[in-house]
Parts: sequence; C-alpha cells; structure tokens
Amino acid sequence: MHANPLLQASTLPYQLPPFDRVDDQHYREAFTQGMAAQLREVAAITAQDAAPSFDNTIVALERAGQQLDRAMAVFFNLNASNTNDVMQQLESELAPLLAAHEDAIALDSKLFARVNALYERCPELTLEPEAVQLVERYHAQFVRAGARLGDADKSQLKAINSQISSLTTQFKQNVLKATADGAVLVDSAAELEGLAAEQIGAAAAAAAARGLAGKWLLTLHNTTTQPLLAQLSNRALRERLFKASTARGRDGAADNTRIVQQLVALRAERAALLGYSNHATYQLADESAGSPAAVSRILTALLPAALARAREDAHDLQQLVDAHAREAGFERFALAPWDWPFYAERLRRARFDFDRAQVAPYFELNRVLQDGVFYAAQELYGLTFKERPELPVYHPDVRIFEVFDADGAPLALFLGDYFARETKQGGAWMSNFVRQARLLGMKPVVVNNLNVPKPQDGGPALLTFEEVTTLFHEFGHALHGMLSNVHYPLLQGTNVPRDFVEFPSQFNEMWARDPKVLANFARHHRTGEPMPAVLLAKILAAQTFDQGYATTEYLAAALIDQAWHALGSEEAGQAQDPARFEAAVLARHGIDPALVPPRYHTAYFAHVFSGGYSAGYYAYIWSEVLARDAGEWFIRNGGLRRANGENLRSKVLSRGRSLDPQAMFIDFYGRPPDVAPLVAYRGL
Ligand SMILES: [Zn+2]
Repeated sequence: MHANPLLQASTLPYQLPPFDRVDDQHYREAFTQGMAAQLREVAAITAQDAAPSFDNTIVALERAGQQLDRAMAVFFNLNASNTNDVMQQLESELAPLLAAHEDAIALDSKLFARVNALYERCPELTLEPEAVQLVERYHAQFVRAGARLGDADKSQLKAINSQISSLTTQFKQNVLKATADGAVLVDSAAELEGLAAEQIGAAAAAAAARGLAGKWLLTLHNTTTQPLLAQLSNRALRERLFKASTARGRDGAADNTRIVQQLVALRAERAALLGYSNHATYQLADESAGSPAAVSRILTALLPAALARAREDAHDLQQLVDAHAREAGFERFALAPWDWPFYAERLRRARFDFDRAQVAPYFELNRVLQDGVFYAAQELYGLTFKERPELPVYHPDVRIFEVFDADGAPLALFLGDYFARETKQGGAWMSNFVRQARLLGMKPVVVNNLNVPKPQDGGPALLTFEEVTTLFHEFGHALHGMLSNVHYPLLQGTNVPRDFVEFPSQFNEMWARDPKVLANFARHHRTGEPMPAVLLAKILAAQTFDQGYATTEYLAAALIDQAWHALGSEEAGQAQDPARFEAAVLARHGIDPALVPPRYHTAYFAHVFSGGYSAGYYAYIWSEVLARDAGEWFIRNGGLRRANGENLRSKVLSRGRSLDPQAMFIDFYGRPPDVAPLVAYRGL
C-alpha cells in the first residue's frame, strides 16, 4: 500500500501536486480525512475559553481546512479536464457530503457568535485595512449562508443545499454526456467540403477513436452555434450539426429538463428562506451589480443596438444566400441559424478580403503563447517564463512554466492544458491548484484550459483568431491569480465577485489585437515570415464584424438566466417546460431565436445550472465595461508600457479582494466606469 500523497503538503516546487503519484483511489480518503480535520480545527476555535480575537478566530479559520483544499484542488481540476467514470461516480457521492460539510461550518452557531462579535467590534480592533475586509467577508459569508436562521430553518436549508449540490452535479455530467453523444457521424468525405485537411483528419481520428474507422465524427462545441458551421458548405450537414447541438439535454439518457425544474424551484425556496424574493435578488446582493434591476438596465440598454445590427446583417446575409442560389443554381431558401455563420464567413471574405485558411498558418499555438501571451506579460509586468518539463503533469499534453518577476524572484507556476479531449469539459477556463497567501507562505499554481483540436501526428496547432483571443483571455485570469499579493487566502487573486472577475481576462484580450504584440507573434509557422501588413490590417478591421450576432446571442442567454432566477418560490414550484419558458422570455425581449439563437439553451447552460454563474451570466458584460474602459486608459497612456502595466498591477491585479472591487477600479481610473468604450469596441 503506497502512502496517499494527498494527505501531506506537496514537497514539489510551489507545492505543485505530485500528479505522478496521485491515483483515483486516493481521493475518497483525502476528502474524508480533510473534512474531519477541518471540523476538528473549527471545534478547537469554538472550544476556546478566551474571548474571540482576530487571531484566535478569523486567522485560525484562515489556517483551517488546508488538507481538504488540497484534495479539492486536485480532484475538481482533474475532474474538469481529465475525468473518468470513477471520478464522476465519486463526484456524485461527494457533492452532498461537501454541501453538508460547508453547512456544518457556516451554520455552527458558536462559530458565528465569535465572528459576529468581532464584526461588531471591528472599529475598536484597529486592524489593517486588509484584515478589516477579511472580517467583513467572513461575516457576509456566514449571514448569506444562513447563520442567522433558527434551528428548524437551518435544517431545511441543509436539506435544500444537499439536493442542489446533487442536481448541479447531475446536470454537469449530463451536459458532458450529451455533448459527447451528440457528435455528428458523417459517412462520406464529400460532405465535409469546406473543412481544411487537418480538420478532416481530426474528424477521421475522432471516429476511429470510437471504433468507427472509415467514417468522420464532428464533435460538439459547448455553445449553441458550432464553429464548423462557418466552413461546411453542405447545408444538410450544417442543419444536422446545429440540431445536434440544440437537442442536447432535452431527452434520453442525459435529460436535464426535470433537473432544471427542480433546481429553479429549490433555489427560489432557499432565497425565500434567507429573506429574499427570488434567487437573482439573493445572488446579486453580494455582487458589484447589487440588484436584478441594475442588471436588467445594462442588458436592456445594450439589446436594441445589438438587435438592430443583427437585423441589418441578416438582411445582407439573405442577399448573399439569394445571390449564391442564383449562381450555383439551387433553390433560394430563408436564412436559418445553421446558415448564419457560413454566410457571415462569406460576407467577411467579401468585405475584408481574407479567410480563415489564409490566417491560420500565422497563428501557431506555441508561437502565440510565447511570442504573444508571454511577450505581452513581459512588456507590461516584467514577467519571464521558463518551461519546467521535468515537473510531473496529469496528462502528457500539459505544459508547465515557472514564472519569474521583473527582479528575477520566483513568482508562480503556470500550467497550460490547451487541447480538447473527450474527458475534458467544453469551453475554456482558468483555475488554481495552489492559491496565493502570504499567511500560509503559498505562491500560486494556476492552470489554463482550452479546447483546441489536437493536431495529428504532432503537427502544428493552428488557431483561429477567436482561439488566439481566448488564449489571451484565460491568461488574463491566470495573471490575476499569479500577480495576487495578499496576506489572507480568502482574499486571494481571483476570489472576487463574478461581475469583476472577468475584468482582468477581458482586459488582457486587447493585447491579442495590439499592433506591436500581433506583429511579434503572427508569423508563419513554417517560414517564420511575419504576417503581411495588409492581412494584419484586415484582421483588425474585421474585429467589429458580426458583433450584432455575438452580442445578441450573449444577451439572450443572460436574459434567460435572469428570468429563471427571477421566479419566486410559488412560481418556480410550477416551473413550466423549459423550452416554452425560454421562448416566452426571448419573445418578450424581441429576440427571434430562428435568427439568432441564445448562446446556450437552458438544457445545456452549464454556467448557470452547474457552474456557479446562476443569475450571473450577465457578469461578462458587466466586467467588460471595466475591461474596455481600462483598455481606453492604456491606449491614451501609450499602450504596451511597463509603467502602465505596473499601475494596473499595483491597483488591481495584485489586490485580490483585499479592497472593495469598485473602490479598486476608481483607485485605478480616478472615476467610475463608463460604458461608451465597450459599445465602440463592439462596433455597435
Ligand atoms: Zn473568463
């Protein structure tokens, strides 16, 4: 029997988890022992005779639970990016246990009495500002978790939390299964006209991996609109692919319909128990936005411009369809959602005179990473990167870099896990393996995940410009984690409100299209030739293209999320058929899903039914206001310069939640955020 490596702190650099020694069988024991250890640590806090002090209560809580944190970080990261049946089974078993564990601490009345006493005496304690913020966060978390409820309500709350945790886990696993099962099988290569040779090869490999050699498999992307729709010239196949995407989670073995109904009802019930009229009001009370009304204001303010642009574009696209029909001698048809990306691509070519195939050779993954993403971070923050191939990884595709600060001091480890695989969730995200906290002497270990199709035979991975932008986006989150320089773990880097957390990431996207950065990374993967200036200019000019569609599909999803969570417990109890509910919400806002479908339909909207973004999908646009405004500030102040980067780093990126996020932005900018730069950036 080998020792369980998750039971002790890792001895590897930066406490990187010893992936080469972690087995599926280690998790259960690590979770069981980790939870028990944390409960003992909490019991020791409440058993003290000494009156509550900042150190004996708040700091003690900050030090508690490290063993469980380690187990959770490894398990949940790997379950997201490299899962298997054993892990999924364990995840389902653990979900209610972890919910109960959290409740046991949050609803411990002796513990809350100590925290509350400190909160009330806070002004007399003469604490540092970061410590004051920490006391306030603890107090808010306890109250929001139900610490002030009576015993009967607490029991009811615990039961609800346990059910919610099981349902969100089931929802997520269903999405993964429905997405894998929904892949479209193609019998003849002729149907794949429009795809590049590498893409056809990847589809053949995907089919072969499922024992279907000689056929082609088009795997599904997370979102409603599938990227391949832009390329496939076979209309029937486009329709099949689109319908496979929207059918996910609606019936069969991975049906999410009932789960949504139950989740919405339980969330509304919990909100009522905690004194809120609905789940959205409860969630938003702790975000920058503050209330559903504020969210509604920004979503509905942007919608008319987005819809108007989408309608104009639809008109142009229909003309293109008609012309195409005349030319190619087929019967004219009305533009459908599975046609939009295809004709938008043709329109893009006509207007800007370039296509994806021309651009791809200049966006090779490794070059974009090193000469683009890392280069911008070096210019702005003085960071340097050294690959550490000798350190253990959890999958051979993962790369590890050590990150050094401007003065050469070791700063963080960065893991890049860029390729798609069936065992990985869709989409792209950043996560932490180790969170920065001076109190615990911990430096950050962060990971970026993308779903770039893996090239065959070790060939170069050539990205679309959207994927390039995603690479920069996720690295913006990574920087927020790596540049974190706070004392207390609860206030570290990315542990900020959801509607603030996308600010650093969306801000970092701007460097993907900065002329100096772009010139540095956009080089031909074979010849090393820089991208011709004319092509570069066209790509930049095309950036506001099709933003009517992109903005509308996003706003549609955000409005659906808000609507589900605006239901009070009475209404939610009778939650109707999700498809009908959604259709009514879209109609109410004048959105026609037969033209622009929502970015996610309810049955596979993992962000809000399993990913912690319930009533929070609006957060992307809320944060983007800050991101574009900050971008304007950079442009006005000379762009890619160390002095500018240092300003953002010292006032925002290093501060985690050691300060109120809105105060942080004002400190950086000198005034509250303005929405105009966002509207301009999107060309609306
Ligand atoms: Zn993000």
